[in-house]
Amino acid sequence: MLRYVAALCFLLGSLLAKNEIYDGDNAGLLTAPVGGRFALKARRSVPMNRLISLFLLIAAARARNEIYDGHSLYEVTVNNEDDARILGFLEERLGVDVWAHPVPGSAAPVLVPANVRDVFLSKLDEAGMQYRLDVVNIKELLDLEDSMLAAAANRTSRSEPRIGLSFDTIHRYAVVDAYLTELASRFPDVVTVVSGGRSFEGRDIKYLRISSSNFQVQIKIDHKSVVVAPARLFLDMNLAIGIPRHAVQDWAANLTRWPIHPRRGHLHHFRGEPGKPRRVTCPYPACFINEGEGKSEYDRLMRPSRNASPALITYCDTSKPIVFMESLIHAREWVTLPATLYAIEKLVIDVTERDLVRDIDWIVLPIANPDGYEHTHVSERFWRKNRATGYMIGNVCMGVDLNRNFDFNWGTGSSSNVCSETFHGARAHSEPEAQVISDIIRTHGQRIELFLDIHSFGSYILYGFGTGVLPPNGLTIHLAGVQMAQAIDAVKWASNRNYVVGNSAHVLYGTSGSAQDFAQDSGCTLSYTYELPAWRNSGSLNGFLVDPEFIEQAGFETWEGIKTGARFALNNFRARQMLRKQNIFNTQ
Ligand SMILES: [Zn+2]
Repeated sequence: MLRYVAALCFLLGSLLAKNEIYDGDNAGLLTAPVGGRFALKARRSVPMNRLISLFLLIAAARARNEIYDGHSLYEVTVNNEDDARILGFLEERLGVDVWAHPVPGSAAPVLVPANVRDVFLSKLDEAGMQYRLDVVNIKELLDLEDSMLAAAANRTSRSEPRIGLSFDTIHRYAVVDAYLTELASRFPDVVTVVSGGRSFEGRDIKYLRISSSNFQVQIKIDHKSVVVAPARLFLDMNLAIGIPRHAVQDWAANLTRWPIHPRRGHLHHFRGEPGKPRRVTCPYPACFINEGEGKSEYDRLMRPSRNASPALITYCDTSKPIVFMESLIHAREWVTLPATLYAIEKLVIDVTERDLVRDIDWIVLPIANPDGYEHTHVSERFWRKNRATGYMIGNVCMGVDLNRNFDFNWGTGSSSNVCSETFHGARAHSEPEAQVISDIIRTHGQRIELFLDIHSFGSYILYGFGTGVLPPNGLTIHLAGVQMAQAIDAVKWASNRNYVVGNSAHVLYGTSGSAQDFAQDSGCTLSYTYELPAWRNSGSLNGFLVDPEFIEQAGFETWEGIKTGARFALNNFRARQMLRKQNIFNTQ
């Protein structure tokens, strides 16, 4: 309580001391460059207005937290599989919220509404299970979280303007959405913003493509160049990386008909104006070019004639791996947002390791579940699922657990109960938010060498499959996972435990329909679920609640793991690419 009062006093004091304030809706956004740096948008206003609006904000947050008044947090010890089953049963029947499912021998934090507390505890007593009251009334901690985040954000807004979004608070959807667009316009050479689709409630789901070459390669060909393989080898290469046979055949047939002279068999139909190369866009990743003289019959077929104008061929860049990461697929896991925002900052704004941008293409989706995320800010702080309706008459219960909605063993290790936190939806990929992620994975196929689905909490790096069966490259996946964990452990705060690495079903519990498993099954070589730590401060903020002190550290230490994983993925990708080429050429 003392900490809460102190935070509120600080907030009021700091507000009164301010003379110049920042635009609250765009706090932290890039605006016009000032003195060679991007400065925060600022305007003069009456401090009292600011004071009133912040009071209104805090009042709104207080109203949001009312629904949790009297909810208590218990730590329930789970000694064996039977205990875990009983806890799962009580979760389903009573609506208690198990924040982190435990492995036997550990304790599970369970949020218990006041109206079911007596029944819940009596059932635990009946089963002989041990428990401990951790937080009497979670609403007090929610109020504390609001006050501390607001005070920290206000403290930073009075200090030196910084580039990019600040790491003092948890930014809302609109702020992040505008930030992604702004980055793309400020850094067009490396950043492309993509609208992946719309959420159930119609919010734009944006992600960034960060690449030094915009995911493409352009090669100029002239009579000295050789296009390798219009037909058979071309087909083999594309099939090897997962492009459908019919699509490749259609394109190859057109390519063969169009540029090759029927008798002389070389490219002499270039119609580019002198000095202005014709552009030929190849829609498939393996339209590849070899510089220099070729030797096979296919090479001869495709050699441009001496009189041909030079041509530029643009094709998808298969020379680099992709690292794809996303956060906030579970709405209440707020601390995951700083992890992806920090990665964006280190890849675009404060680039200290240029090889990561030069050698790797990145896809970063910071808010995978925007409806659920906004709901946690305005209505229910501990909402986990998306906000889909229509699954129950009157929508008494609603929302789908997006991380059980993917097309891998869908519906076998999740709940068909709409009221459950792990409700899997009507069918695989029924939810638009899951479709955005699956579209990215399907579009980029096996070029995604590393996929990271970032969650909280528990300090785990988990991999597939949720059934307990390991992927064929399980040993490599484990090795990369350990290296990522060690990189994070080396810089983590001492009070947080070391990361645990392992198969998600073996380390925690079986699942189905997870993004991690879908990505692994779809050809992403190294696919993981990160569970970031729940740093517990002296004021007891715990679990999903975020202490502003930990926000930047969460971004920083997770980035250490991501960097390590990305470099491992790059080496792995290059080795596989070399092997694949050797194998294909050896079969010709
Ligand atoms: Zn989660």
